[in-house]
Parts: sequence; C-alpha cells; structure tokens
Amino acid sequence: MGRTAISWDVIILGAGPAGLALARNLQPNRRILVMERRATMPTEPRIGESLPGSASVLLQRLGLFDQFLSGDHRERGATLTIWDETTRVWRDALRDPSGPGWNMNRREFDQLLLAGARDAGATILEGCSQFEIGRQGQDWCIRLHQSDDLHCAPILVDATGRSGSIARRLGVSVYLDDPLLCVYTFLCSCPDDEDATMRIQADEQGWWYTAQIPHGQRVLAYHLDAENPLWRQWQKPLDFLDYARRHQLIAEAIHTLAPSKLQYRPAGTAMLDIDTLHQAGSGFLAIGDALLTFDPISSQGIFHSLASAESAANAIRAGFPEHLDALQNFQNEMRAVGTRYLINLKSTYQGPRRFANCEFWSRRA
Ligand SMILES: Cc1cc2nc3c(=O)[nH]c(=O)nc-3n(C[C@H](O)[C@H](O)[C@H](O)COP(=O)(O)OP(=O)(O)OC[C@H]3O[C@@H](n4cnc5c(N)ncnc54)[C@H](O)[C@@H]3O)c2cc1C
Repeated sequence: MGRTAISWDVIILGAGPAGLALARNLQPNRRILVMERRATMPTEPRIGESLPGSASVLLQRLGLFDQFLSGDHRERGATLTIWDETTRVWRDALRDPSGPGWNMNRREFDQLLLAGARDAGATILEGCSQFEIGRQGQDWCIRLHQSDDLHCAPILVDATGRSGSIARRLGVSVYLDDPLLCVYTFLCSCPDDEDATMRIQADEQGWWYTAQIPHGQRVLAYHLDAENPLWRQWQKPLDFLDYARRHQLIAEAIHTLAPSKLQYRPAGTAMLDIDTLHQAGSGFLAIGDALLTFDPISSQGIFHSLASAESAANAIRAGFPEHLDALQNFQNEMRAVGTRYLINLKSTYQGPRRFANCEFWSRRA
C-alpha cells in the first residue's frame, strides 16, 4: 500500500474527549496513535460545557482531576425549568453526593485531555482528513493520502463523534439517528450577571437552554427538528435573540445581551447497533458519541465519552480482540447504558403533555 509501514498497538480515529481519554487510559507501555481530522484544535468557544459532578471519578482515574479543578470552570448553579408544567421548577444538587458539577470552559477541557494523552506517551497526528482503511492479516492498516504513510494495528477504535463515520463506513448497523438540530450562539454576558442557573424551557417546536460559561459568556441554544423551516427564518443572530425573548424564563437571563454569529449542530440521539460491532471486522470498537450520542437534554455526553473510553480500555487490557469475553463485556455494559438512557429520554420527552399533539414532542415521546 504505502511507502512506510508503522506498527502500533491501537489506532484511534478522532481526538475528542473519548479518543483522548482512551489514549491516556491505555498508557503506559502501549504504542497508541490518535489520528484527528482537524488540522488544529479550534480556538473559538465550543458548545457542550456542562459536566456532571459524577465525572470527577473518571477524571481522577485519568489522573487529571487536580489539573481540571485548577482550570477556568464554574461550579454549576441550580437548574430552573419550565418543562412538565407551565410553572417553574427549581432543582439543585443538594442531595446529589457527586456535587453540582461544572459549566466548563470547553476549549480548556479539550486541551487538558489532549495534553493528558500526549504526556502519557500517545502520538497525536492532526490533519488526517483523507485516508483509506484496509486489512493486512490481523491488522487494520490506514494509508494517509497526504503523506502516503501506512499505519497498522490489530485494534482500530472509532472515536469520530456523532457521525460514527468509520463504523458506518465499515458496515456497522445504525440503530437510531434522531434529526434534532441545535441552533446556538454565544452572548457577551454583563460583568454584573450573577445568574448562575441553567435555564431550560420547552415550547411547541422544541426546547431552549441558556447558561453562563467562563470568560463572561453565556450560551443560548434552541433544539428543534432539522426539517422545521423555523430556523431558516433567522437570518441574523438578532432574529434568533428576538425569538428567544418570547420565552419568559429565557428572556430574563438574556434581555440586555448581544449575540455572536449563529451556529448549527446536529444534536439528536444517534446509536450504533451495539450487537453488530463485529460486522466491521475483528479488533474494531467504537466509543463516545460514535457509539452512542446522547441528546443534549441529558448533559451526559462527555461523561459517556470518558466512561466508554474506560470500558474500551478495560476490554483491551482483558485481551480484546483475542478474548471474546472482553468484547462481550464491553457490549453488555454499553447496551445497558443505551437501554437505560432511552427509557429516561422517552419519559423526559413525554413530560410536557400540553405539547403531546405537536410533532416535535409526539415523535420523541
Ligand atoms: C448542542 C450540543 C450541546 C451539548 N452539550 C453538552 C453538555 O452540556 N454536556 C455534555 O456532557 N455533553 C454535551 N454535548 C455532547 C458532547 O459535546 C459530546 O458528547 C462529546 O464531545 C463527545 O466526545 P467524542 O470524543 O465522542 O466526540 P467529539 O467531541 O465529536 O470528537 C470527535 C473528534 O473526531 C474527529 N473526527 C471526526 N471525523 C473524523 C475522521 N473521519 N477521522 C478522524 N477524526 C475525525 C473530530 O474532528 C473530533 O475532534 C453536547 C452536544 C451538542 C451537539
């Protein structure tokens, strides 16, 4: 295939939280290559800032918790919702033994994981946008178009995020793919904005949230069906802000703020058929969003990325792919997570009964 063949123990595609956590988790003593499509880490703010307190255990096991705590993250305040009923409901973390969690500086969190993987000895190759995947004996081999280098390993892990592009390309079946779209913007927060609440409000066509993030910013997001023409009407960020202000709970937190550009991300649940991972071929795993993308209403995406990376590392240490049990244990764990999540998700979307006849809600409930 290529001119140079380089051998690794594990090749991970995607340097998001899942791929980087797995790379760190598997060290020391393994040759780990992480191949990332982007040329560099983005420098602009990134959505996906809310981390539950329970993630502290996973960060501790990665040896990154102390560094995380010294970072630029805010403790999460109470959650204020208009969801099941039209009245406001407060929820705080008083009874949660894991604590309230954080509204993170997401860029800094991603950098922490990147440095953590590098410090542990993993090699990160950025700018791997085009490559071919093939097999040589028991090995997976990836030939990079830009360099013509050939990278081979007996284990290949898809950590490419929601697209799960490698698993899908290799023939793993898709179980679910919800066409939820997130439209969002970052607002400049006033210095005297002391509102630490996470505010969530349902309406006929979707749901809103806003929360303060570090660096004097606030995120404002709306989740609706991708095919709903509503979002195409917002030509300018101010159109979006005006629409958001029709919702009292949200309006109170954003009334004097100016938005930056509007951004769009597919955000719905996406799930591979976990039982069909072997269809890709022996030695293949998928983790993080590539395996199971959580709806943002759950705020569980990053937790799952770290947890599934840990489960995959356990499977590899237990002899995956030679030992069938190792794959089965991984599949059992992930299936249990997926099943529990889908039950909770359904009951969450059944909550606002006043919208039971609206398409957005009925298709998810
Ligand atoms: C609108 C929105 C709000 C969210 N809010 C929260 C939140 O508040 N809390 C929370 O916990 N989670 C949240 N999430 C989810 C969270 O961001 C994800 O769960 C998390 O980023 C998943 O990590 P990952 O590593 O699996 O995937 P990603 O973070 O998507 O990383 C995947 C990486 O793979 C790279 N890649 C893609 N394709 C290829 C390829 N072919 N080859 C090589 N590399 C590739 C990408 O460039 C990327 O760097 C939110 C998500 C959305 C969309």
